[in-house]
Amino acid sequence: MAASGKHILKFCPKCGKPLVSKSIEGKSRLCCADNDCGYIFWNNPIPVVAMIVETSQGIVLAHNKLAPKGMYSVITGFLESAESPEEAAIRETKEELGLDTDQITFIGMYPFVKTNQLLIAYHIMASGEVMINDELDDFKVVQKDVLHGWRDTNRFEVAQWLQRLSVLADGVSLL
Ligand SMILES: [Zn+2]
Repeated sequence: MAASGKHILKFCPKCGKPLVSKSIEGKSRLCCADNDCGYIFWNNPIPVVAMIVETSQGIVLAHNKLAPKGMYSVITGFLESAESPEEAAIRETKEELGLDTDQITFIGMYPFVKTNQLLIAYHIMASGEVMINDELDDFKVVQKDVLHGWRDTNRFEVAQWLQRLSVLADGVSLL
């Protein structure tokens, strides 16, 4: 497997010694230089919830302050400790967009290799008035056919949701 390019950790979080690359069961892993310590950085993916939020007006896409200009996307968020993914999805929808969840439907789970995350995707029917939080600087409400163009990107969750709705007559390639 190709390395992800970036070393996330340089020093052992257990003992503070440098991490070095070692081969473990055929895979290169960052390990503590001190064999007595034995720390291994497994680089397991972090779960992230992704929400396609729909209101009676359409689908709400948001622009993150850190995102390139013009790039609007579904909202995402990390889970709090002891929180279920569903609870996180509902909480993030309220925090980021100010919307109340009326109905939540699980879409699927998708590895997002670039960021080493596991996307847990939901469709949310929401109500209320959109009020974005500090992470976002703009939003727009689009209709489903606008999302048609996303099928060539890595937006698996959107593609699969659209496919489920049979919005696309010609099918969607998920990978
Ligand atoms: Zn160590």
